[in-house]
Amino acid sequence: MKEVGFIGLGSMGVPMVQNLLKEGFRVKVYNRTPEKASGLVEAGAQQVYHPSEAAAAGGIVITMVSNDQALQEVTHAFADQLGAGGVHLSMSTVSPETSRQLALYHQERGSEYVASPVFGRPEAAAAQKLFILSSGPREAKERVQPLQEALGQRVFDISEEPGGANVIKLGGNFMIMAAMEAMAEAFNLAEKSGIDRNLAAEVYASTLFNCTVYQGYGKMIAGKAFEPAGFQLGLGLKDCNLVLQEANSLQTPMPLASLLHDRLLASAAKGRAQQDWSALARIALEEAGLE
Ligand code: NAP
Repeated sequence: MKEVGFIGLGSMGVPMVQNLLKEGFRVKVYNRTPEKASGLVEAGAQQVYHPSEAAAAGGIVITMVSNDQALQEVTHAFADQLGAGGVHLSMSTVSPETSRQLALYHQERGSEYVASPVFGRPEAAAAQKLFILSSGPREAKERVQPLQEALGQRVFDISEEPGGANVIKLGGNFMIMAAMEAMAEAFNLAEKSGIDRNLAAEVYASTLFNCTVYQGYGKMIAGKAFEPAGFQLGLGLKDCNLVLQEANSLQTPMPLASLLHDRLLASAAKGRAQQDWSALARIALEEAGLE
């Protein structure tokens, strides 16, 4: 059945729905701020005005909303309508614990929950290049796979346990933040030695650090260009909190995550929550007297 509901038309949700339409899916879209659906309606999506209207009984609903609280709110609003035989494909970055709780919430209604967070920014979403993680019951994962394949370049089956994909996603975001802080400090060192920081970034990104994170964020941090935001710093702070929460519950010290949390918190306190999360580099810039 090529019909699906989609909730959350933010920076990620809009290009994802565009790709589902392109791949021939019929998509019912819901967004809290209804105006954001207008472009998608022109492209063929059907707009609905309550989360429950995005769910067909026994069908599939995809969610891509900001955080745990938003996900819980929308899920509680559509789960009854989805009902027996339905699957919730949950693609937001949320805590493993939220996934575990929502899996139970669906189970009580005869529906199933697949946690499926993604790696890749809005540009990657638009290009169908997301890397997609998947955890949940085997049959539900198989059922949503055609949708995941329409949205990304590769799907990784992580676990049957619902929180597994979220653990891997949070670990990855932690590693990106650590790389951004390391680049900020190394580029500052180059600049204060009188060397062009853009040249430093180019050397690293084309030799030992020849990969997407160092290439993409390296350019932004070397060029001190933190807007427009592909991924908002406020959302990065949310993720860092989730990393520390999980680390705490598993008694796994992550001193580097604690440092990054303080960097992000200070950035938010300075009014930078809407900037790209690479703006965490501005703290190191300020400390080095370079901003
Ligand atoms: P975004 O542009 O801020 O969009 C957030 C979406 O969530 C909007 O549709 C927003 O509705 C909706 N929302 C927020 N609170 C809500 C609530 N209480 N009830 C209903 N809807 C609510 O965020 P995004 O960048 O698309 O990110 C979405 C998710 O993907 C996040 O979990 C993020 O961590 C993850 N992610 C993002 C990226 C990235 O590079 N951007 C990459 C990978 C993963 P309104 O329009 O009404 O505000």
